[in-house]
Amino acid sequence: VAAPPPELSTLLDWADGMRRLGVRANADSAAEVSTAVALGAEGVGLCRTEHQFLGERLPLIRRVLLAADPAARDEALTALEHAQHEDFRALLAAVGNRPVTVRLLDAPLHEFLPAPGDASDAGEEQRAAGLREANPMLGLRGVRLALSHERLYPAQAEALFAAWADVAATGVRPELEVMIPLVSMAEELAVAAVYVREAAAAVAARTGVVVPYRLGTMIETPRAALLAGELAEHAEFFSFGTNDLTQLTYGFSRDDVERQVLAGYQERGLLTASPFARLDPHGVGALIALAVERARGVRPGIKLGVCGEHGGDPESIAFCDGLGLDYVSCSPHRVPVARMAAAHSAPRERHDENGSAR
Ligand code: PEP
Ligand code: MG
Repeated sequence: VAAPPPELSTLLDWADGMRRLGVRANADSAAEVSTAVALGAEGVGLCRTEHQFLGERLPLIRRVLLAADPAARDEALTALEHAQHEDFRALLAAVGNRPVTVRLLDAPLHEFLPAPGDASDAGEEQRAAGLREANPMLGLRGVRLALSHERLYPAQAEALFAAWADVAATGVRPELEVMIPLVSMAEELAVAAVYVREAAAAVAARTGVVVPYRLGTMIETPRAALLAGELAEHAEFFSFGTNDLTQLTYGFSRDDVERQVLAGYQERGLLTASPFARLDPHGVGALIALAVERARGVRPGIKLGVCGEHGGDPESIAFCDGLGLDYVSCSPHRVPVARMAAAHSAPRERHDENGSAR
């Protein structure tokens, strides 16, 4: 993807001089990273690793989930680890020396399981039936899946650290952040942190490379926001997942509610915008503010960002800037808008220091 035209680049460079808030992008592949960087992203705020298993890679994750016995599962995990090693090597090479937040698998199971009747044999069909859920977004997802498939996060983390060692050998040192999704209990995060630490130790023993990384968590359940102080004891950074946090705070299904409920609410003037598009400052925003305060109380320097869709919305960006978050992360194509919005919401003194904004 080409960089913005010269006049726009000049304007955006000027905006960059004004803003305090960092702007990263959500990117899952090397190609998306390159697009994001061309549009001015300072790094990757969210790599959703489950997206690396869609399409032709689907059988890889399905074999892990539906393995008939431990030997078949181990074989499937080895294949998954090899595939991820390639994915991560390409991703990290594209990231260069920038920060990159790699989120371990957060798959709602229905995206990966075969549809009823589509399994390869009767045994697989039975195992898939046992995993189907009425509410997959509230089910065996994120860290919960990792706790029930104990080799899953270690396999991903080993692939990630091995890939970092590979790119480091070429002189590139991405600033690696490993992120755990859908946490609601400090105990979940503590277990996941052990998986990641052991993976780093295994790669160090194998390659001789001690990979520097930060461990952090998504804050995307109301409980995680309320317990942010406890979570901060185990996390060096937080990224607010405002998509799930909005879903869980309102109790609005992010998959269904726009059409069924919110369009009507907007027509009646009950809402000016969908809370999935514009951060609700009173409910969701209050939870974020409370989490920020509690986290900073325990770990003053904790790094804080937002990686839900709101990270690309100007009004939501102003709210995040007001809380003093470190960065927002949005889709690559929204990065220029986010850079402008962050300049606009920057404190007045910065405008004065850098020349009038008007
Ligand atoms: C979120 O919930 O805001 C988030 C960024 O994660 P995902 O959209 O992948 O659930
Ligand atoms: Mg989420």
